[in-house]
Amino acid sequence: METLILAHDIGTTGDKATLFRPDGTIRASSFAAYPTSYPKPGWAEQDADDYWRAFCAATRDLLAKSGAPPSSIGVISFSGQMMAALPVDGAGAALRPSIIWADQRSSGEAADLGSRVSPGRVYTLTGHRLNASYSGTKIMWIRKHEPEVYGRTAKFLHAKDFLVLRLTGIAGTDLSDASGMNLLDIESGSWSEEILDAAGIRRDLLPEVHEAATVAGTVTADAGRATGLLQGTPVVIGGGDGACATCGAGVVSEGDAYICLGTSAWLATVSTKPLRDPLQRTNTFCYFRRGQYFPCGSMQAAGGSLQWFAETLAEKGKEGAAGGSVYDALERSARDIAPGSEGLLFLPYLIGERSPWWNPEARACFVGLSLKHGRAHMVRAVMEGVAFNMRLIADAFSEQGMRFGRVRMIGGGARSGTWRQIFADVLERPIATLTFMEEATSIGAAIAGGVGIGLYSGIEEAVRIVKETSSTVPEPSRSPAYRRSLDAFRRCYEQMVPVFSMLAAE
Ligand code: ADP
Repeated sequence: METLILAHDIGTTGDKATLFRPDGTIRASSFAAYPTSYPKPGWAEQDADDYWRAFCAATRDLLAKSGAPPSSIGVISFSGQMMAALPVDGAGAALRPSIIWADQRSSGEAADLGSRVSPGRVYTLTGHRLNASYSGTKIMWIRKHEPEVYGRTAKFLHAKDFLVLRLTGIAGTDLSDASGMNLLDIESGSWSEEILDAAGIRRDLLPEVHEAATVAGTVTADAGRATGLLQGTPVVIGGGDGACATCGAGVVSEGDAYICLGTSAWLATVSTKPLRDPLQRTNTFCYFRRGQYFPCGSMQAAGGSLQWFAETLAEKGKEGAAGGSVYDALERSARDIAPGSEGLLFLPYLIGERSPWWNPEARACFVGLSLKHGRAHMVRAVMEGVAFNMRLIADAFSEQGMRFGRVRMIGGGARSGTWRQIFADVLERPIATLTFMEEATSIGAAIAGGVGIGLYSGIEEAVRIVKETSSTVPEPSRSPAYRRSLDAFRRCYEQMVPVFSMLAAE
């Protein structure tokens, strides 16, 4: 009987469960949704019991659909949304809804922490800017506003860790999720006493930190009854979704790089040391193993910019009418416009920007519009603007000594040949696509699982299941035009900063 790997990707909208064969092909998949609640502006919470209900539903559906006997499942592994604060008591019950990655309520705690330990020191130690997006200040918020919950907390976990606890009775986390908390000394891979002291967070409330391929425990009898899984099946802790996507893109060695071009986007590489940028433009997460990192630069509105265009400025009824998606039609219209969009620039800062500027006040703009410009120029300018910001991130990596050539691409935007060509030309690097571009995160979780039970000898061997399907090479003749546009793009942002501040005060 073939051994199968069950990977659960605990995302923001639901649990995507996939049953993989060891060669990386998919036997079956299932999705179970759960809601997010927004009790106040800037707050975002999810009920941890919903995670468990979704896990049980998706697992049962997958077993029924595939006809795979539970005994064929060699391992269960996880990918999960990162940067949460979910307090559980000693019996493993959630004490309040999880405060998820999108929640910004703890900005006051971030300012407080910043007065006790310098933000520069936090960046050096944790690889990340001191920010209310991470778990640390969310834990501080619970301590201050819900002392009774804090007092009863045994551990603070992430979504996937909660499910591992439900399945095995054992609480832990992995290096990548631990490194998204603003609390881990990423060089040593252990909790930073210096930051914990400054934040006033008790060390014993943080879980033990494992490598992603660690078998955390096995399915208990109770969990077996609830899920349909066999008691005793190994459960691997897995990784945060960013780490799993990196692995699922086959990016595991120095010199490898990929872009995830989804609603947001990021460029990530691999290193054996944290990448500390003096300008703090990029950040560094721990990866699957100790001493392995993935430096990362993230954009807020990438595919989201094109989506905004499609929803607000696309010609209704025309684009998408030919049977293809609205994006296919937009792409067709942009294809024949000259590189540089005849002097039209788009700054893709619809919701502020993270890398490289870290400016929440930044806003999007079209600059250089003239009578000759039409809708198609604007589509192309949007695609180019996203690529220009990504080039600035790539340059920030290069300035810190990261060397990478070919860049793999995953995410919805990777479907567009025109956009891939723009990225290849602007980044001046080949862009490769992969067999499974939508499933990279699940594949990364599956690889951690397979390595955990010895199905693969290691991550480097396992990523051979990730195969390139196409390569888009840069066209050197376009470089001069794009370099001029890039220069204008950067200057345009810098000139606009005071205007953005004025607009933010409105
Ligand atoms: P998410 O990041 O939300 O998981 P996806 O990875 O599916 O989403 O990416 C969604 C984005 O992909 C859309 O906002 C859109 O900009 C882009 N996209 C999807 N299909 C195409 C296409 N055929 N051409 C260009 N862009 C596309």
